[in-house]
Amino acid sequence: MARATKYVYFFGGGKAEGRADMKELLGGKGANLAEMNLLGIPVPAGFTITTDVCTYYYAHGRKYPAELKAQVAAALARSEKAMQKRFDDPANPLLLSCRSGARASMPGMMETVLNIGLTTRTIPGVIRLTGNPRFVWDAYRRLIMMYSDVVMEKAAGLEPAEGMGIRHRLERLMDEMKAKTGAKADTDLGAEHLETLCGQFRDKVRQVIGKPFPDNAQEQLWGAIGAVFQSWNGKRAIAYRRIEGIPGEWGTATNVQAMVFGNMGGESATGVAFTRNPATGEDKFFGEWLTNAQGEDVVAGIRTPSPLNEETRSEHDAGHVSLEEAMPKVYKQLAAIRAKLEKHYKDMQDIEFTIERGTLWMLQTRTGKRTGTAAIRMAVEMIRQKRITREMAVTRVTPAQLDELLHRILDPQAEKTAKALAKGLPAGPGGACGKIVFTAADAVAAAERGEKIILCRKETNPEDVEGMRAAIGILTALGGMTSHAALVARGWGKCCIVGCGVLAIDARAKTMTVAGQTFREGDYVSLNGSRGIVYAGQVPTVDPDPENPLLVEFLAGCDKVRRLGVRANADSPKDAATARAFGAQGIGLLRTEHMFYGEGADKPLFLLRKMILSSTPEERRAACDELFPFVKKDMKGTLAAMAGLPVTIRLLDPPLHEFVPQGEGKQAELAKALGITVDDIRRRAEDLHESNPMMGHRGVRLGVTYPEVSEMQIRAILEAAAELGKEGKKALPEIMIPVTCSVNELKDQAAIIARVKQEVLKKFGLRKLDFLVGTMIEIPRAALTANHIAEVAEFFSFGTNDLTQMTFGFSRDDIGAFMPAYQEKGILAADPFQTLDQEAVGELVRVGIERGRSVRPKLKVGICGEHGGDPASIHFCHKVGMDYVSCSAFRVPIARLAAAQAAVQDVPAKKKGKK
Ligand code: ADP
Ligand code: MG
Ligand code: MG
Repeated sequence: MARATKYVYFFGGGKAEGRADMKELLGGKGANLAEMNLLGIPVPAGFTITTDVCTYYYAHGRKYPAELKAQVAAALARSEKAMQKRFDDPANPLLLSCRSGARASMPGMMETVLNIGLTTRTIPGVIRLTGNPRFVWDAYRRLIMMYSDVVMEKAAGLEPAEGMGIRHRLERLMDEMKAKTGAKADTDLGAEHLETLCGQFRDKVRQVIGKPFPDNAQEQLWGAIGAVFQSWNGKRAIAYRRIEGIPGEWGTATNVQAMVFGNMGGESATGVAFTRNPATGEDKFFGEWLTNAQGEDVVAGIRTPSPLNEETRSEHDAGHVSLEEAMPKVYKQLAAIRAKLEKHYKDMQDIEFTIERGTLWMLQTRTGKRTGTAAIRMAVEMIRQKRITREMAVTRVTPAQLDELLHRILDPQAEKTAKALAKGLPAGPGGACGKIVFTAADAVAAAERGEKIILCRKETNPEDVEGMRAAIGILTALGGMTSHAALVARGWGKCCIVGCGVLAIDARAKTMTVAGQTFREGDYVSLNGSRGIVYAGQVPTVDPDPENPLLVEFLAGCDKVRRLGVRANADSPKDAATARAFGAQGIGLLRTEHMFYGEGADKPLFLLRKMILSSTPEERRAACDELFPFVKKDMKGTLAAMAGLPVTIRLLDPPLHEFVPQGEGKQAELAKALGITVDDIRRRAEDLHESNPMMGHRGVRLGVTYPEVSEMQIRAILEAAAELGKEGKKALPEIMIPVTCSVNELKDQAAIIARVKQEVLKKFGLRKLDFLVGTMIEIPRAALTANHIAEVAEFFSFGTNDLTQMTFGFSRDDIGAFMPAYQEKGILAADPFQTLDQEAVGELVRVGIERGRSVRPKLKVGICGEHGGDPASIHFCHKVGMDYVSCSAFRVPIARLAAAQAAVQDVPAKKKGKK
């Protein structure tokens, strides 16, 4: 007999059919509920309906597989047994929750329905058992609210106008009831008020939706299951998936679970906690809880929660009693579960718990989202605690998280004198300065106009995700460190301050008032998300500190794991020093032409122009001689700064006309200085004009036509190295010839290098000089003839900017007109100038390396250009066996991490073996 597909997995009473590694089938929540059962942690019994059912449901016109009904009934029976209650039993009724849970966590993006099974049949029984009618009517009014909103309205596809939804209408009834009875908070409503309210709710639902609220437990259950599957394709979930890149095919699982109640009075509570602090990474149990509350009350930010323990109490918590104080025994039990979970999962967990009349139940555990600062601290400290290996630690920090630490913060100097407006909770790190907007839609629109904006909301709501994404900072008046805004911002590494209670935010009027001052849309504020401080006006932002000790230790760990070298692109001694501070192991690209721009470049630029404007080789040679000492000084400075680390120096690359002044006034000035006429200059500029300069007289072509220009540069480099050697300092130049397409170009230049080398050796009385000669590979022909090129070149550096331009035939500077459309229409998945196109450009790189190494096995290979700092491209460079990547100095730490991650992920299959 063929076995039916298993669609339902039971968990409860220390047993479970699922496991933590079954997330694809059971979703993250279901898999971990199962795992916690297996660990002996108290979890209310229940079962998970698999993601396969979700897929089936959408593939079959929203129908379930035939086997499902019976499997659910069987699992429900087991749950009833474990909880010693029965669903829909008037005498001893079991109530259920129905919870969504996809493979990847999508906090608050899908639906959950609580208190399922409360009907006129079961209510008297629950009242009798609890002796607490107030609690029962409160639970019932929550069920009607959630169910009518989630199942009867959203899942049914009804889309009422803003403020006209069933939930809002019921909330208004509740407000009226509070006003009538003089109740301040929800908790002030008595049993009889709530009972009356439930009657009003049911009438309202029938009147507005045209259908009665179901008074049948089974109907409630199946309605909720359907709504959870429907919510996979709800608007919020789709928006979140698009941002996070979660595939639509994954589907969600549905978890049906016995209810436990945090709202049964003073001995009951509910809370959310992290096994370590998700904002700072500190190894302290950090969380928030509320007495006499249910479900989402903590996360929704409706009531301000209290701290979990004394250790993590902050100035905001004054007057709040910690769980440690209020229920010491339960707290100890929870702390023990914290330790157990961390030991088991070897990572920081984000947990949900509920205390029902003194009994602790765990409702969820998952790997917690964290800031970049926290990710690094946890990775480093977990290695020290021997909880994880160095290789594991490397995978615990994403390049984007590391980027946060390398990103801008408010200028500490300017911050001292800035006007602090308010203090809230530091929910997302870094600094942000922008104009305020008050709705998600305004945020998206402003960001599209290219404005830097800060989204200000009273409380954040999952429907705001796109606006939150568009903003550079998020500010809310309500909510705690575990509120949705905080979770989402932290996940994205976005600057965010929540719970800033003194702000009076009026979204309709688009104003924010604080301390008698009113801010309107478009006014500037600045946020310090690491400390939770809001400032009026613009506070400048600055670059971060590369010497942060945790960062240094983490990156040192990455260095031990990676195989790929990391160099920086740097053009001056100053850049070189920055590059070394960030851990660069050399310079992968020094562009000589940069010495003719910026500070102190007047004289060399003048001499360069003189050289360009020369009309005979003799004149040019004379100009070169004058320029020589400047070039040598520049080369010597950078070589010295790198103290013997390799420095790849590219010979003059751009077309010469770029250096000729354009304006009439400037031309006249230059003519005067050179003692020639303006007409001479104009004529020479016309001579140099090219219709396609990027493919014109540039790179090695200059060296071939003006050998004296190459010679001057080569001499400058080699003499700089020789002088440093004489001074007892180390120097390792690598002379790089650009825009090569044929080995013959290289042979031509190599002859000059060989001659100059002899001259320099002689001049300095040296026997040898350490340096390499190599080339950029940036033209497809060079990649394809790499076996010839490597006969001369001792190293290759793939110039993937030009190689991409040449391979696609896209002008780098002109892609703006079509690249957005190409990405929108899916013609290209990514901009190939940002992420290396592995299919074709990558193929040229692979072929180039292979052919080059076929004649020179030890050929040194690197990459320079934008791709050298892009994590996906770095993985590719690792895979094809490059020796190093080179990127801008500030990207060096990212490259060190990405290279280490590539090394960890690229373990040969048999080593990876055991799971
Ligand atoms: P989300 O994925 O949005 O966090 P959950 O499924 O975790 O949604 O449900 C939200 C909240 O509802 C939980 O944090 C928990 O407080 C409450 N809840 C869910 N199931 C139960 C249950 N069986 N008993 C008590 N509370 C529950
Ligand atoms: Mg929810
Ligand atoms: Mg949850």
